[in-house]
Amino acid sequence: MATPWMACAAALPAALALAVMPAGQGRGAPAGPAGTAGAAAPAHTPPHGALAPSAGPVRVVATTSIGADLARHVCADVPGITVMALMGPGVDPHIYRPTVRDVRALADADVVVAHGLLLEGRMEDLWPKLQRRGISVVVLSDAATAGDDPHIWMDASMWAAAARRTGEALAAQIPDRADAIRASAAQVATRWMELDAQVRKAVATIPPKRRMLVTAHDAFGHFGAAYGLDVRGVQGLSTEAETGLADLRALVDEIVERQVPAVFHETSVPDRAIDALVESAASRGHALRNAAALHSDALGPPGSGADTYEGMMRSNVRAIVEALGGDASAMAESTR
Ligand SMILES: [Zn+2]
Repeated sequence: MATPWMACAAALPAALALAVMPAGQGRGAPAGPAGTAGAAAPAHTPPHGALAPSAGPVRVVATTSIGADLARHVCADVPGITVMALMGPGVDPHIYRPTVRDVRALADADVVVAHGLLLEGRMEDLWPKLQRRGISVVVLSDAATAGDDPHIWMDASMWAAAARRTGEALAAQIPDRADAIRASAAQVATRWMELDAQVRKAVATIPPKRRMLVTAHDAFGHFGAAYGLDVRGVQGLSTEAETGLADLRALVDEIVERQVPAVFHETSVPDRAIDALVESAASRGHALRNAAALHSDALGPPGSGADTYEGMMRSNVRAIVEALGGDASAMAESTR
């Protein structure tokens, strides 16, 4: 495991050097001989890392599809900003290794949107390097009291705070569009707070004893804390953690005792651990349903209905509430 990452890490400084223009010719500099920035544009990064109004489209690079969705919403009605994600649908960020192309995209970014708390376990060394180049790095986990759990999008109120934080970072970086960005971020935050209320309402319909959410890894801790479910991840906070047999046995005991009817796969995590749980429960005479796969650390593919943050939350909550015997009709109302 260490070897490919070490090799990749060793290649990073070279990739950064390749990808980043020499100091003094960054995004605030003239775009070229025919550049509209003109000769008067500063040949250095403007004060506080902010971009000059004439610097052209602002490039926002998010590590995950979930982070990119947030950035797109925050920039929704603001002209001249492009947002891209390094990791596509179904990709597990815990074990994702950045390619040289990714590093180049990060080095070419004006603003990087990352999760932190080791969600991008193999990329975090890059953030200080990018910051030293004058690139603004927004660490979304810093927006909430997240403990050591980076999966803050699972609590829509935390994700609202992340939207506000991203808005502040973008506004600081793009002063000429700051008001529009702040207005857009405030609108998104309101929308996620409405979603938060709907999720709370839907989860409250699950019979109390069955409010137990068993998933492949601990992505749903914030979800459980916010909405009142006991969450058990068969693996730890990272998909790289292993589970002991004793832990598995204790988990099956609890599932049988509480008559929990279903456990859940995740789209970005292999199924082995959950399969073992279903088999173990069956051997104890408890029929445990392997319910729909939840989207935990990545959005679904285009057209899946889980291809936006809001769609992912609605799809997850519907699956959880229905499989555990509640009424998910509150999730049918769109906030917009
Ligand atoms: Zn995760």
